[in-house]
Amino acid sequence: MIVLHYTDGGTTNSIYKYFSSDTIESARELNKKASPLNVSSHYLIDRKGKVYHLVPDTLFARHIIGLNYCSIGIENIGSKKKPLTDAQVLSNAKLIRHLTKKYKIEFLIGHSEYENFRNSKWWKETDPDYFTVKEDPGKDFLEKVRNLLQDINLKSNPE
Ligand SMILES: [Zn+2]
Repeated sequence: MIVLHYTDGGTTNSIYKYFSSDTIESARELNKKASPLNVSSHYLIDRKGKVYHLVPDTLFARHIIGLNYCSIGIENIGSKKKPLTDAQVLSNAKLIRHLTKKYKIEFLIGHSEYENFRNSKWWKETDPDYFTVKEDPGKDFLEKVRNLLQDINLKSNPE
Protein backbone atom coordinates (compact mmCIF):
# COMPACT_ATOMS: atom_id res chain seq x y z
CA MET A 1 0.00 0.00 0.00
CA ILE A 2 1.10 3.57 -0.65
CA VAL A 3 -0.24 6.35 1.59
CA LEU A 4 -0.14 10.01 0.56
CA HIS A 5 0.08 12.79 3.13
CA TYR A 6 0.71 16.47 3.55
CA THR A 7 2.83 17.76 6.39
CA ASP A 8 0.36 20.47 7.51
CA GLY A 9 3.03 23.16 7.39
CA GLY A 10 6.77 23.35 7.76
CA THR A 11 9.61 23.44 5.26
CA THR A 12 11.78 20.64 3.86
CA ASN A 13 14.41 21.47 6.49
CA SER A 14 12.05 21.71 9.43
CA ILE A 15 10.24 18.47 8.50
CA TYR A 16 13.56 16.68 7.98
CA LYS A 17 14.61 17.83 11.44
CA TYR A 18 11.24 16.88 12.92
CA PHE A 19 11.46 13.33 11.53
CA SER A 20 15.11 12.97 12.60
CA SER A 21 14.36 12.70 16.31
CA ASP A 22 13.95 9.13 17.63
CA THR A 23 11.19 10.11 20.03
CA ILE A 24 7.89 11.82 19.33
CA GLU A 25 7.27 15.40 20.46
CA SER A 26 5.45 15.59 23.78
CA ALA A 27 2.63 17.71 22.29
CA ARG A 28 1.35 14.66 20.41
CA GLU A 29 -0.18 13.09 23.48
CA LEU A 30 -2.40 10.49 21.80
CA ASN A 31 0.46 9.13 19.66
CA LYS A 32 2.87 9.30 22.57
CA LYS A 33 0.58 7.18 24.70
CA ALA A 34 0.67 4.43 22.05
CA SER A 35 4.46 4.61 21.64
CA PRO A 36 7.31 7.08 22.19
CA LEU A 37 8.68 6.25 18.72
CA ASN A 38 8.73 9.31 16.49
CA VAL A 39 6.62 9.65 13.36
CA SER A 40 8.40 9.44 10.01
CA SER A 41 7.82 8.80 6.34
CA HIS A 42 9.66 6.97 3.59
CA TYR A 43 9.55 9.92 1.21
CA LEU A 44 9.22 13.69 1.47
CA ILE A 45 8.34 15.82 -1.57
CA ASP A 46 8.91 19.57 -1.52
CA ARG A 47 6.73 22.26 -3.16
CA LYS A 48 8.80 22.10 -6.36
CA GLY A 49 8.37 18.35 -6.62
CA LYS A 50 11.86 17.36 -5.46
CA VAL A 51 11.79 13.90 -3.87
CA TYR A 52 13.75 13.06 -0.72
CA HIS A 53 14.08 9.41 0.24
CA LEU A 54 14.26 9.41 4.05
CA VAL A 55 13.57 5.82 5.15
CA PRO A 56 14.35 2.62 3.17
CA ASP A 57 11.14 1.33 1.56
CA THR A 58 11.18 -1.97 3.44
CA LEU A 59 11.65 -0.47 6.90
CA PHE A 60 8.73 0.37 9.16
CA ALA A 61 7.96 4.10 9.30
CA ARG A 62 5.33 5.51 11.64
CA HIS A 63 3.00 7.57 9.43
CA ILE A 64 -0.45 5.99 9.73
CA ILE A 65 -2.33 4.17 12.48
CA GLY A 66 -3.09 0.50 11.83
CA LEU A 67 -1.34 0.17 8.49
CA ASN A 68 2.33 1.06 8.98
CA TYR A 69 3.51 -2.54 8.62
CA CYS A 70 2.27 -2.80 5.01
CA SER A 71 2.61 0.72 3.70
CA ILE A 72 5.04 3.17 2.17
CA GLY A 73 4.41 6.76 3.24
CA ILE A 74 4.87 9.80 1.02
CA GLU A 75 4.74 13.17 2.77
CA ASN A 76 4.31 16.41 0.84
CA ILE A 77 5.14 19.90 2.10
CA GLY A 78 1.78 21.65 2.28
CA SER A 79 -1.45 22.09 4.19
CA LYS A 80 -5.15 22.79 3.75
CA LYS A 81 -4.33 26.50 3.37
CA LYS A 82 -1.34 25.75 1.12
CA PRO A 83 -2.71 23.05 -1.20
CA LEU A 84 -0.20 20.75 -2.88
CA THR A 85 1.28 21.99 -6.16
CA ASP A 86 1.09 20.61 -9.71
CA ALA A 87 4.79 19.78 -9.43
CA GLN A 88 3.96 17.64 -6.39
CA VAL A 89 1.14 15.94 -8.31
CA LEU A 90 3.60 14.96 -11.06
CA SER A 91 6.34 13.83 -8.68
CA ASN A 92 3.94 11.73 -6.60
CA ALA A 93 2.59 10.04 -9.72
CA LYS A 94 6.12 9.33 -11.01
CA LEU A 95 7.29 7.98 -7.67
CA ILE A 96 4.18 5.79 -7.26
CA ARG A 97 4.63 4.43 -10.78
CA HIS A 98 8.25 3.61 -9.98
CA LEU A 99 7.30 1.88 -6.71
CA THR A 100 4.62 -0.24 -8.39
CA LYS A 101 7.28 -1.58 -10.76
CA LYS A 102 9.53 -2.45 -7.83
CA TYR A 103 6.98 -3.87 -5.37
CA LYS A 104 3.61 -5.55 -5.45
CA ILE A 105 1.48 -2.50 -4.59
CA GLU A 106 -2.25 -3.16 -4.37
CA PHE A 107 -3.62 0.04 -2.81
CA LEU A 108 -3.09 3.77 -3.16
CA ILE A 109 -4.83 5.85 -0.50
CA GLY A 110 -4.80 9.30 0.99
CA HIS A 111 -4.34 9.45 4.76
CA SER A 112 -7.90 10.85 4.88
CA GLU A 113 -9.21 7.54 3.48
CA TYR A 114 -7.62 5.14 5.96
CA GLU A 115 -10.79 4.67 7.98
CA ASN A 116 -12.06 2.44 5.13
CA PHE A 117 -9.51 -0.17 6.25
CA ARG A 118 -10.47 -0.09 9.92
CA ASN A 119 -12.64 -3.20 9.83
CA SER A 120 -10.62 -5.07 7.23
CA LYS A 121 -8.01 -7.79 7.56
CA TRP A 122 -5.37 -5.18 6.79
CA TRP A 123 -5.90 -3.22 10.02
CA LYS A 124 -3.41 -4.20 12.74
CA GLU A 125 -4.08 -1.61 15.47
CA THR A 126 -5.38 -3.47 18.55
CA ASP A 127 -6.58 -0.41 20.51
CA PRO A 128 -10.05 0.46 19.12
CA ASP A 129 -9.82 3.98 20.59
CA TYR A 130 -6.53 4.80 18.91
CA PHE A 131 -7.72 6.64 15.82
CA THR A 132 -7.59 10.22 14.53
CA VAL A 133 -9.59 11.79 11.71
CA LYS A 134 -7.28 13.05 8.96
CA GLU A 135 -7.82 15.51 6.08
CA ASP A 136 -4.52 15.10 4.26
CA PRO A 137 -3.47 15.20 1.47
CA GLY A 138 -6.66 16.83 0.06
CA LYS A 139 -9.34 15.58 -2.34
CA ASP A 140 -8.22 17.58 -5.40
CA PHE A 141 -4.67 16.40 -5.05
CA LEU A 142 -5.69 12.75 -4.74
CA GLU A 143 -7.91 13.04 -7.78
CA LYS A 144 -5.13 14.60 -9.87
CA VAL A 145 -2.60 11.94 -8.86
CA ARG A 146 -5.06 9.12 -9.55
CA ASN A 147 -5.89 10.58 -12.96
CA LEU A 148 -2.24 10.21 -13.95
CA LEU A 149 -2.21 6.58 -12.79
CA GLN A 150 -5.46 5.28 -14.24
CA ASP A 151 -3.62 2.61 -16.25
CA ILE A 152 -2.18 0.92 -13.12
CA ASN A 153 -5.52 0.22 -11.40
CA LEU A 154 -4.55 0.75 -7.79
CA LYS A 155 -7.41 0.17 -5.36
CA SER A 156 -8.47 2.77 -2.78
CA ASN A 157 -10.38 0.55 -0.39
CA PRO A 158 -10.37 -3.06 0.79
CA GLU A 159 -13.66 -4.15 -0.87
ZN1 LIG B 1 -0.96 12.15 7.13
